[in-house]
Amino acid sequence: MSAVFVGMPSLPAYGIGNLHATESFPDAAEHELANGQMRTNLRHATHSIRDKRLKVVGELPDWEDLRSAGSAAKEAAMADLPALLAQFEENFTARGGIIHWARDADEANRIVASLVSEQDTREVVKVKSMATEEIGLNDHLAAEGIEAFETDLAELIVQLGHDKPSHILVPAIHKNRSEVREIFLREMPDVDPDLTDDPRQLAMAARAHLRRKFLSAKVAISGANFAVADTGTLGVVESEGNGRMCLTLPHTLITVMGIEKLLPRAEDLEVFMQLLPRSSTGERMNPYTSFWTGVHADDGPQNVHLVMLDNGRTAALSDRYGRSALHCIRCSACMNVCPVYERTGGHAYGSTYPGPIGAILSPLMTGIKAEENNSLPYASSLCGACFDACPVKINIPEILVHLRGEDVDSRRGKPRLPSEMDLMMKGAQWAFSSGRHLNLVEKALPLGRLAAGRDHKIKRLPGRLAGGWTASRDIPAPPKKSFRDWWASEHDAGDTGTGKDGK
Ligand code: SF4
Repeated sequence: MSAVFVGMPSLPAYGIGNLHATESFPDAAEHELANGQMRTNLRHATHSIRDKRLKVVGELPDWEDLRSAGSAAKEAAMADLPALLAQFEENFTARGGIIHWARDADEANRIVASLVSEQDTREVVKVKSMATEEIGLNDHLAAEGIEAFETDLAELIVQLGHDKPSHILVPAIHKNRSEVREIFLREMPDVDPDLTDDPRQLAMAARAHLRRKFLSAKVAISGANFAVADTGTLGVVESEGNGRMCLTLPHTLITVMGIEKLLPRAEDLEVFMQLLPRSSTGERMNPYTSFWTGVHADDGPQNVHLVMLDNGRTAALSDRYGRSALHCIRCSACMNVCPVYERTGGHAYGSTYPGPIGAILSPLMTGIKAEENNSLPYASSLCGACFDACPVKINIPEILVHLRGEDVDSRRGKPRLPSEMDLMMKGAQWAFSSGRHLNLVEKALPLGRLAAGRDHKIKRLPGRLAGGWTASRDIPAPPKKSFRDWWASEHDAGDTGTGKDGK
């Protein structure tokens, strides 16, 4: 690995905060799979978004060209990131914005808390933001006596339910409307006690609850979907209009953004504004798109801050096989098509980033040796559906295989002793290296029949690998005669009337 310097000295190698799973994926998946209601909700939601996406993507004859253009723009941005960050900073500050550089989650949290305190307020409104989830900002602010109000409907449901998001785009995808009604009745002061689970009524209750916050908040906190280097512009795309209220009404706006969100040129937005809404919500264009460049007298926030977050992104960038994970535009198309995510849900991944992208991004940002994150690259069948769906062509299966290799290498002893798997692979290499070797192995195979029971199944084998296999499945007893022996007896020896018992 080569180090990548992006202008921030003494960078920590890996990210901290809510990037770390606290239990392995198989263990977490086991609890989650027991939740039948969640699986039903997820199946319904992911299939309907997936169908909408396929329909609108199919309308564009140049969809594949758009994907290639998006991938190329991101690759160019990552290849020239240090220079683009400097260019962005120059343009952003020239227009009245203030940039703060945060090496990790702790530093970002401290910066935001001190900016809020400077405004002499104890309340902030928030636009949905993965970066602030990643650093655990709400918990940090609460510890400092500052209350953060989520204003995106799904984030509000998650916050009021004292829950965690389970999907990048639809954080409350695991809740159905009757569960949402219960949360509102329990947690929302002044809510109508006759509230039903009609979606319109639920949305109106949330609207009334949030409106008071929008009008009184002095400070808003947002993430950003894009930052444009050649203009110093930030952009947020959203569906409910809550983002527009947060971005325009309060006096102070603090944005927390990962350094990888940078695009080189304003023209690049033409491509991404077609790719993102189609891939995320299955819409031709998203309902609210806000771009802002610096401060404008008497128009919108008068204090505009941007916290540029590393938190392991530089470490991911320095992995030449995995760095394209930073091209992600957080559309969530990969999780909506993933058969593993559809069954386990987002909580099983442990990190802020669930699904196929989380299975590569979290270990890249924390390092494959981070406790429990080393199981994430195995949370995939490698079917490739995520790669096909990704609007910026991130080859997720290839990175998963690369990270599995890193994981295996990281656990080898020094001096290296061959593992059980190494020995088995060596044996297989020898057996398949010539027909003569294979013949010898096949001669020994019938001995395996001794280990089989009366039902001709081997139920238990010794060792970690073979024993692990038979712990959850049986192996059929080997045939009395190998295929090659049968073939020889049928053809070479001219035996056409006997030897029909190929078994
Ligand atoms: S990896 Fe691709 S499909 Fe998945 S969220 Fe990121 S951009 Fe979307």
